[in-house]
Amino acid sequence: MPAKIIDGKKIANEIKEYLRKEIEELKKKGNPPSLSAIQVGEDPGSKVYIGAQKKSCEKMGIEYNLHQFDEKVTQKEIADFIKKLNQDPRVSGIILQMPLPGHLDARQLQQLIDPKKDAEGVSPANMGMVVYGKPILGPCTAMAIIELVKSTGVDLYGKEAVMVGHSDIVGKPTALLLLDKFVTTSVCHIATGERGTLPDYVRKAEILIVAVGKANLIKGEWVKEGAIVIDVGINRVGGKIVGDVEFDVARERASYITPVPGGVGPVTTAMLLRNTVEAAKLQLE
Ligand code: NAP
Repeated sequence: MPAKIIDGKKIANEIKEYLRKEIEELKKKGNPPSLSAIQVGEDPGSKVYIGAQKKSCEKMGIEYNLHQFDEKVTQKEIADFIKKLNQDPRVSGIILQMPLPGHLDARQLQQLIDPKKDAEGVSPANMGMVVYGKPILGPCTAMAIIELVKSTGVDLYGKEAVMVGHSDIVGKPTALLLLDKFVTTSVCHIATGERGTLPDYVRKAEILIVAVGKANLIKGEWVKEGAIVIDVGINRVGGKIVGDVEFDVARERASYITPVPGGVGPVTTAMLLRNTVEAAKLQLE
């Protein structure tokens, strides 16, 4: 029997439904949530992402403010601007849009964002809470992945998971969040691919999560019978958006699988909204 499709849009809508009530409460308390985005230069990919963020926020009644800077802006100018947003009581969440031009140090700038306003959950303090298993404002995609896995209702205790990709914002925090649920987790990366052992790892995964950005990297026939497959990848192939997993074959073997698009993406956006609402609540404390 083909795998059940994990409907990311449905899960995102459920989260948003709950958030709407929280937003109303915050407004009654005179503390409406707002998200401030900083964009440097004119990256077309980031423009699409910003458009989607703005639309999602506005639909939820969250104020969205975009602050655009010329690509020649200095590190100090952006740093000073972040500090200004940190001090502004009307700003609940801050997001620094990637990519930044090469002369700017993204990590150093992210570290300046007040952890209580860090809507993407990328600051060292928030990443540290992931290590403790107690994310407050957690990294959005990693948190979304956990929501998607949990939505299957499968008991995770003692399961074997394989995380393909070890980026700071997706692979590493996802692996830590799985460990916290007593999932036995292996993490694969470029060296696993180069050594040729990636198929061996994938074949034993009861929970397979792939966040690489290479279309069809994971062959459907490698997928373990009955696995839960979460495909994070976004790749443009022949005018279509596809993931990192060979979907049609994988679907015949897995028990649950996320589509691309319509899987991880909508839940990641819902997590950004949730963090913005949580950030507004933190500012009341
Ligand atoms: P990233 O920073 O480029 O990380 C990619 C990871 O894949 C790295 O750990 C890399 O290892 C590893 N890798 C590369 N080639 C490999 C191979 N042949 N075998 C095994 N591992 C390999 O990307 P990211 O930010 O984590 O994003 C990954 C993908 O998810 C992208 O397609 C991105 O667009 C997508 N994404 C989607 C969402 C969403 O909301 N749907 C959110 C975030 C990201 P090395 O570092 O060692 O090279």
